[in-house]
This record gives sequence, structure tokens and C-alpha cells, in this order.
Amino acid sequence: MVIVFDLDDTLYDEITFVQSGFKAVAKHLFETYAVPISVSYLFMLEHLQLGRGKIFDDTLQHFGVFSKKEVVRCVTVYRSHVPKIHLYDDTARCLQRFSNVPMYIVTDGNKLVQKNKLVALGLYQRVKFCFITHRYGIKNAKPSPHCFLKICEREKTEPREVVYIGDNPHKDFVKIKALGFKTVRMMRGYFKDVVKSSEFEAHFQIRSLDELNNEFLSKVFEAQDV
Ligand SMILES: [Mg+2]
Repeated sequence: MVIVFDLDDTLYDEITFVQSGFKAVAKHLFETYAVPISVSYLFMLEHLQLGRGKIFDDTLQHFGVFSKKEVVRCVTVYRSHVPKIHLYDDTARCLQRFSNVPMYIVTDGNKLVQKNKLVALGLYQRVKFCFITHRYGIKNAKPSPHCFLKICEREKTEPREVVYIGDNPHKDFVKIKALGFKTVRMMRGYFKDVVKSSEFEAHFQIRSLDELNNEFLSKVFEAQDV
């Protein structure tokens, strides 16, 4: 048995990373332009719904300090800051419970950002290997099974002996499920209310990693493909 986890919204609350990044940018805006930290921070939080890509443009424009160069600087501050984030309590318990089982992480996203998160959460010490898919080329990001097949190689095992726990039904399960990997959907975070066809849906759903115990996993590994 091999357990593979997604990172964002599966092992910790991704919004806490975004908040942590906004705080770092707010601090930068204070140090550079004397914009009060709490004012720009609240502005960014309120504009989160409008799409992350444009938030720094809007913020800099709002405070009268916009330039393309400054947007790039804000993105750099956001991506390179040391995040103040924590594992969910049930994640810590789960990693402890299965410490004798080979565990991996497969996560998409900016290489530097994902690495900073993994370091801040202490995950490099707690799992065998963390695959940041973008290190293997954008085409090998999820839903590509590339990194999952690499795990099979490393563990000298078959997809049916590997379970993936993720939260995004748009990309986490569809391709690996077709290859025989077992899949479990974590029903929390941004995608928790998304309903997809059975092709995209995981074999099982959970609301907390506390549900992931030996009894549950034997059910997962016995399950025939749907
Ligand atoms: Mg996720």
C-alpha cells in the first residue's frame, strides 16, 4: 500500500497561504510607499473574488502606486515569502498514524510557491518524496498520471496498490482512475460543492483525514473500479 496526497486544501487550508502572501505584500507596500498594512491587506482580501491575477494591479491602482514593474515586484514578494501556514489537525494525526507506510505528495502549481509551502508545513520530513509536477514540465501536471507512475516505479508496485487523496474533481482523479489507481476525494476547500460525472469523481469521499484508517483503506483497496 502506498498513500499519495494532494497538498492544497487536502493537507492544509489554501486560503491561509493566500492570506499569508497578502500580508507579505501589504508589508512591502508599507515599507515602499507607506500604505498602511491593514488597509491594503483588507483591500486585497475583499478583491480576492475578482480573480487573483488582477489583484495586485487593482491594489496598486487603488493606492496610486501602479506600474508594471511594481506588479512584478508584488508577485515576487507573494511567491517567495516564507508562508505562515499549518497542517490541519487531522492531517498531522493521519501522517503520524501511517508513518510506517510509504507516503508521497503530488502537487501542481508554481515550483517556488509549492516548495515554500512544503517546507513551511514540514512535509519533506514526513513523506518519502514530494512531486511538484511543474518540475517535470507543464504537460506532466495533473490530470497527467506522469508523477503517479513515477511513484509506482519507485515503490516497484502497481497502480491498484496506490491511493490518491485529493480535493479537485476537475483534475485529481480522472486520468489516474482510468489506470487503476484508487482515489479518495477530500470534501473541503474551494471545490467541495463541485459535482462532476462519475469519470471525474473519486471512488470514495471523506470530510476529514481522521476517516482514513486501516478499515477504510481496506475497503478502498478491495473496491472494484466503477
Ligand atoms: Mg488541492
